[in-house]
Amino acid sequence: MTTLAYDAHNVFAKIIRKEIPCKAILETDHTLSFHDITPKAPVHALVIPKGAYQNAFDFHQQALADEILDFYKTVNDTIQALHLTEMGFRLVSNTGVHGRQEVLHYHMHILGGGALKSVLN
Ligand code: AMP
Repeated sequence: MTTLAYDAHNVFAKIIRKEIPCKAILETDHTLSFHDITPKAPVHALVIPKGAYQNAFDFHQQALADEILDFYKTVNDTIQALHLTEMGFRLVSNTGVHGRQEVLHYHMHILGGGALKSVLN
């Protein structure tokens, strides 16, 4: 995958630097989760690493083991905090042009709170 240089002016970088607000759910040394500003499901959260990674491929390729562990633990802790464990949820990470990624800072969508439309058929 061709990746451009990370742009520190993207909206999630501004949220990490607290230049713009967010509805935070959880925060650790390496990771932040918050509610999506335009929810596409009854519950729609985003989880982002604090490090400057453009997309899922870059994060998995370049992040330190501690950052990766903390990120996926925060994904699970956020799922639990949002009470999604019983009825289920969907994890989505849009990546690159074909993945239709809009914000060029790695993020995981957590969608739930009601039955979601099928995406694979
Ligand atoms: P993606 O298309 O996967 O890059 O998704 C980017 C997501 O970021 C979209 O669901 C937007 O609604 C969400 N988003 C954009 N700006 C903000 C913001 N300031 N706070 C919370 N979510 C945002």
